[in-house]
Amino acid sequence: MTQQYNPHEIEKKWQQRWAADHIYKVLKGSKRPKFYALTMFPYTSGDLHIGHWYAMAPSDAYARFKRMQGYNVLHPMGFDAFGLPAENAAISHRTHPYDWTMKNIENMRRQLRSMGAVYDWNREVITCLPSYYKWTQWFFLKFYHAGLAYRAKAPVNWCPKCQTVLANEQVAGEGVCERCTTPVTKRDLEQWFFGITRYAEKLLDHSHLDWPDRIKTMQRNWVGKSEGAEIAFSLEHERADQKEIRVFTTRPDTIFGVTFFLLAPEHPLVSQLTTPEHKTEVDEYIAWSRRQTEYERVALGKEKTGVFLGSYVVNPVSKERLPVWIADYVLPTYGTGAVMAVPAHDERDLAFARKFKLPVRTVIAPPGWAGEELTEAYVGSGTMVNSGAFSGLSSEQGYEAICALLAEKGWGKRMIVYRLRDWLISRQRYWGAPIPIVYCDKCGIVPVPEEDLPVLLPPDAEFKPTGESPLKYCESFVNTTCPKCSGPARRETDTMDTFMCSSWYFLRYTSPKTRVAPFNATRVKYWLPVDLYTGGAEHAVMHLFYARFFIKALKDMGLVEFDEPFTRLFNQGTIVYGGDKMSKSRGNVIAPDEYVAKLGADAVRGYLMFVGPWELGGEWNDRGIVGISRWLNRLWSLLTTAYASRVVDPEAEREFLHLTHKTIKEVTADLEKFRFNTMLSSLMEFSNYLSKVKETGVVSDSLWQDAISHFLVLLAPSAPHLAEELWNRAGHSYSIHNQPWPQYDEQLTKEQQITLVIQVNGKLRDRVLVPASINEADAKELALGRERVKTYINDRKPTKVIYVPRRVVNIVVAS
Ligand SMILES: [Zn+2]
Ligand SMILES: [Zn+2]
Repeated sequence: MTQQYNPHEIEKKWQQRWAADHIYKVLKGSKRPKFYALTMFPYTSGDLHIGHWYAMAPSDAYARFKRMQGYNVLHPMGFDAFGLPAENAAISHRTHPYDWTMKNIENMRRQLRSMGAVYDWNREVITCLPSYYKWTQWFFLKFYHAGLAYRAKAPVNWCPKCQTVLANEQVAGEGVCERCTTPVTKRDLEQWFFGITRYAEKLLDHSHLDWPDRIKTMQRNWVGKSEGAEIAFSLEHERADQKEIRVFTTRPDTIFGVTFFLLAPEHPLVSQLTTPEHKTEVDEYIAWSRRQTEYERVALGKEKTGVFLGSYVVNPVSKERLPVWIADYVLPTYGTGAVMAVPAHDERDLAFARKFKLPVRTVIAPPGWAGEELTEAYVGSGTMVNSGAFSGLSSEQGYEAICALLAEKGWGKRMIVYRLRDWLISRQRYWGAPIPIVYCDKCGIVPVPEEDLPVLLPPDAEFKPTGESPLKYCESFVNTTCPKCSGPARRETDTMDTFMCSSWYFLRYTSPKTRVAPFNATRVKYWLPVDLYTGGAEHAVMHLFYARFFIKALKDMGLVEFDEPFTRLFNQGTIVYGGDKMSKSRGNVIAPDEYVAKLGADAVRGYLMFVGPWELGGEWNDRGIVGISRWLNRLWSLLTTAYASRVVDPEAEREFLHLTHKTIKEVTADLEKFRFNTMLSSLMEFSNYLSKVKETGVVSDSLWQDAISHFLVLLAPSAPHLAEELWNRAGHSYSIHNQPWPQYDEQLTKEQQITLVIQVNGKLRDRVLVPASINEADAKELALGRERVKTYINDRKPTKVIYVPRRVVNIVVAS
């Protein structure tokens, strides 16, 4: 009497046993080669959704695979636990952010355990605990002392709804808040910045990284490096304090095509250059442009707007007098906030010139140009025309010649500019790591001494949706004594961007209990860099960029010896449902818990791996997961009932060995390349074959047992509970997860060839080499199609074709 497959029973049983035996405890001092497989840790939102499972189940299977391959594998899990939602929950539900967060963590930990992953929970990292954020503050001090943290007043992105400052990266494409889609406005505040721009050039270098190209491209675009020249245009009427305005251009070769000059409405010289008769119009325009979002201002194809100031500048090279306008598509934050407009060779400048009837002059001739007016801006390279002594040079030669002239005359210089801004780390929020700084009337800005860390978040702050940190109103927190002069002082009340916490968490996993340092240097030296980092592509320019900067800075401070944190990066795709990305607002969310309860964790894991190539994702389908569940049930019946050999056939055994080794080879190769879906297809195909062999009993018992052991080990990374149970029932010793990965014999993976003899009316007429697995229909078709054979058949219709498996095809024709 066989028992039914009961995933709940066996999954619970094995999870308890694995936990009790600490079988996934990461060993210190192991002789095995190390492999650090890291999955991006989840934000403590409260519930593990199917996207989390999709990130974590396949990466767990991969970590298991590496473990079985003989690596000492670190595959840890933790929680990114600071952040705005906890604080919003505190305001709306009147629960403390700490309680809300820890309750969510407890639930998510339970869900993660139900997945049956190899996480060593002794290494768990939670960023909102003082034992962790003490070190986030310590790193802040390191950056401060290295001159990489500074305070500056700056216009910041401000979400009026969330009442908080947003980093550029948190402003979504249309100039709206990433969280609540409210249009973002600007505000001036004293803030803390990290000098990430000093690392711009180093961050452009991805040469030693095995990362997806699109992520590298996104990071390069984020840095936004442009090479060109800075050129000084002199003011027509010089002032005591100002003689010129500098502009940056990537196309010095177009200098003779400048027909007007543009400033950002925010440019500090605007009021000085505005003549009295234009003042009203200019003031109105500035007020209007302030209400536009950055995205609206720079959108291509948008109707151009601008106002003439009444003043002129002089082109140093052509000596031409150029009218100065302000236009909102010139941003104060890029380059110098001023533009030399070359309408013939810039799309937006051309649109502006057409709208305001300003001259357009072609100075770069496209190939084959005969002097006609260009219908659209020509932005490519060509031959310089209408450019005085420079006419006739190619764009490239002209670029060099103009740069040389500028340097010689002192009119300008070669320059590189970056779009990248420094990293704003201040947040006017409670639920983050307090910035360890004190302000003293006598001593100014005073860093909190290391021995006084952590600066603890006071538990009794009051949460009000004011946009200012609740810490500002917490007297017991704010009022302190100056570490330098012991006089009365005030604490910084802003907290740090949560991307600070996630910029170093992967170091902490190596030695999470270390109390005297953020990490144990020996352990970090052993484990880092991370060999494989997996997670969503949405982190391309935030987390992944900041973490790279962080590590490069730590290396320069002598704190670590490597300068890239993640050697290999892999981004999984997305699971959609009903053709849409899952979201609570659409009401199309799949709750993994429900399916674990219904079909078991192994079925959910298996289905997510089967649904499509991991990097592309796939469409959730209830019939699909039921299909996987049925397969697991079939495996249960196949492997919990006894095999009995009957008539052992050497040919069949040869094929059996061939297919066993072929399967090992395919599964191994697929796992290496994260092709979980085709890996499972191979296992399914092989299990179907095993079912047939079991019916006929054509292989010996020992051959069968060997193949089954291999099969279970191959299955173990994907369906760890079922594999362990079947392994146990087969009488093997605990645990399957400590077994070595099976090896294959290359010779056996190759399909065996046999010689097929072809007869016509019983006479040998041809021989052909075919795969041993050839079936009857294919063998007959092949024989009838042979040219040699056709000459003997001589257009007669065969009356009979006889097939002797693996030996002979005999074609009978009427003579
Ligand atoms: Zn918002
Ligand atoms: Zn002081």
